[in-house]
Amino acid sequence: MTAHDPQGAPEQTPGQPVPASSTFPPGIADVTSVLFRQFLDLLPDALIVVDEQGRLVQANAQATVVFGYRREELLGQALDLLLPERFREIHRRHAAQYFKAPRLRPMGIGLHLFARHKDGGEFPVEISLSPLRVGDRLYVIAAVRDMTAQRRAERERALLLQNLSLQDELLNQAYDAIILRDPLDRILFWNRGAERLYGWSAQEALGRISTRLLKTDYPGGLAAVRTILERDSQWEGELTQVCRDGRLVIVESRQALVRDQHGQVLATLEINRDISERRQREREARALLAGHLSLLEQLFEALPFAVALVAGEAARLLLANQAVRRVWGAEWPLGQPFLDFLQEHAIVVSDMRGKALVPGELVTLRVLREQRAIALYQEQIRRADGSALPVLVSALPLRVPPEALQGELLRQLAPGEPLALVIHQDVTPLKEAEELKDEFISIAAHELRTPLAALTGYAEMLLRQTERGHGPPLAPWQREALEEIQQGTARLASLTEELLDLSRLQAGRLQLQRLPADIIPLVRQVVRRLQQTTERHQLEVRAPAEPLVALIDPHRLEQVLSNLIENAIKYSPQGGPIRVSVARDGDHDGQAPAVLISVQDHGIGIPRHQQGQIGGRFMRAENARAWGIEGTGLGLYLARALVEQHGGRLWFESEEGQGSTFFVRLPLLGEESCESPENEETTTAAPPVGEAGA
Ligand code: ADP
Repeated sequence: MTAHDPQGAPEQTPGQPVPASSTFPPGIADVTSVLFRQFLDLLPDALIVVDEQGRLVQANAQATVVFGYRREELLGQALDLLLPERFREIHRRHAAQYFKAPRLRPMGIGLHLFARHKDGGEFPVEISLSPLRVGDRLYVIAAVRDMTAQRRAERERALLLQNLSLQDELLNQAYDAIILRDPLDRILFWNRGAERLYGWSAQEALGRISTRLLKTDYPGGLAAVRTILERDSQWEGELTQVCRDGRLVIVESRQALVRDQHGQVLATLEINRDISERRQREREARALLAGHLSLLEQLFEALPFAVALVAGEAARLLLANQAVRRVWGAEWPLGQPFLDFLQEHAIVVSDMRGKALVPGELVTLRVLREQRAIALYQEQIRRADGSALPVLVSALPLRVPPEALQGELLRQLAPGEPLALVIHQDVTPLKEAEELKDEFISIAAHELRTPLAALTGYAEMLLRQTERGHGPPLAPWQREALEEIQQGTARLASLTEELLDLSRLQAGRLQLQRLPADIIPLVRQVVRRLQQTTERHQLEVRAPAEPLVALIDPHRLEQVLSNLIENAIKYSPQGGPIRVSVARDGDHDGQAPAVLISVQDHGIGIPRHQQGQIGGRFMRAENARAWGIEGTGLGLYLARALVEQHGGRLWFESEEGQGSTFFVRLPLLGEESCESPENEETTTAAPPVGEAGA
């Protein structure tokens, strides 16, 4: 104890330290005093004793640590030493008041108190005051606790809490349901997203077993998901869960195990996103698609045509409707190439004249090889039982984007392999109607022949006999009328002949009377005859000096040439030159020698879009009608058929408004049948004669 040590017996106030008491025997008092000092020094708080003058009269060991002064530096000093300057004044006032009414109390409740270290630094403190009366003197014991570490910890805790609440807020703001469950699946955390999704509040959900609360349906079972979680520490998948109101939700769930640093599982974090609506929409879209598909399927099956989807150069079957079986009279198994199918069932495909088609001519194979649409081509299917079916075949190459190859059907298609839709239409009823019509035409033409012959005969007789002076002379108008009758009957007679030829052709009765003949004189003769019918056109023949002999029916070839040259005249209403050329052709490139006849005019030409159809029965171009040029659309059809019967070919090149050139190619004698006639096409739309537009 120093000189300022309090002396005498203190008042016994509860909680006050017991001072060294003079009631102890001497000696003992000293011991007690030492003990007491040691006890004070052991206290974790800094303890200082201040007298009424505000001087420090005692300080324990901890006080020297806290304030940084040695005990000798402290004792006898004013308390101000330990106060930051700004507090000194107010502290003095408080101290004066305190000494008036001293009591045990903490100091500066609700205030942040600071003390001053020897080095001048301030530090936060908590101070507890207690009065100590020794005799008539009053002291104050102040227990000072350095709060620096605690304040720091508090600040850190506050920061932590702030962070936590921020995280909490974030988790709550999340749209997804975020759930944390302990290893026993008890819910530890349940964000607002979970409240919104499932309808259970956090309060209701916490502590409950999550799988039970939500009746979670795990794909493949909970155990399987647990195994994956344990192995990979995470799992993703779709779950079906039940909300509080019994509503089912489908969630996209991501789950992850939370482990401590020893790898021990602490919890499972589960983030669930509601995809019920998306799934619902997908279901609806699928149902809609399925509906459309089933409708299309029904339509596909109900079609009266045989529709086949074929792939690859060999035309493997990918898809077929029921009519395929009906038309072919046999089952064409999926995947089987077309020719294998024909062979297996002894089916022969021929043209309309019954000539079997070679594979290269079959539309089903051609479309895949040529990769262009083929419309209304006529074929005949002859089955093993002898029955025959006339069909119109149309085919369309299909382009499949590579990404579409995912589909079940298209999986059998190698990338780059051609794909086509082939439609066979049974035209038996059309054929029958056509035959009836042909029969009618044939009968009508026959019946017309006799009265026409009579008309022609009598008109001619009247004119001729009157000229010779038999009977009364004719008035000019009577002569004109008779000449009109003569021209009209001539036109009618030629039409009748054409119709008869047509019916002969249909019936396969158009026979040629062929003999070897030089073509050049025949051409010259026809040109000469037709030059007499026009003054506005200059017909010119170009031909080599040497003869070009072919096996021909001169009458029929004359008919062909007449038709072509008459057309050149007719369809050049402004007049102009018409050049007929005859030349030897095809001694080169492996082509058999032939004679090539061409008829070139500078007339109205044929519109490009109709060139493909010209040459069909009764087919006439729009511009021919627009010009008011009369015609039947039969001449070219017959001409082509006649040329083909000669083993030749007929085609044209034309430019509307510029003119046309028609070509006839006939094999020279001894070279016949080198050209296979074009397949005869449809009854509804006939094949092109020309190739310019093709
Ligand atoms: P038509 O009796 O109508 O002349 P064709 O069968 O001879 O019948 O010819 C068919 C159609 O081809 C004609 O109606 C016409 O539209 C067209 N055509 C034929 N030859 C020519 C040509 N030289 N110039 C222009 N168009 C022609």
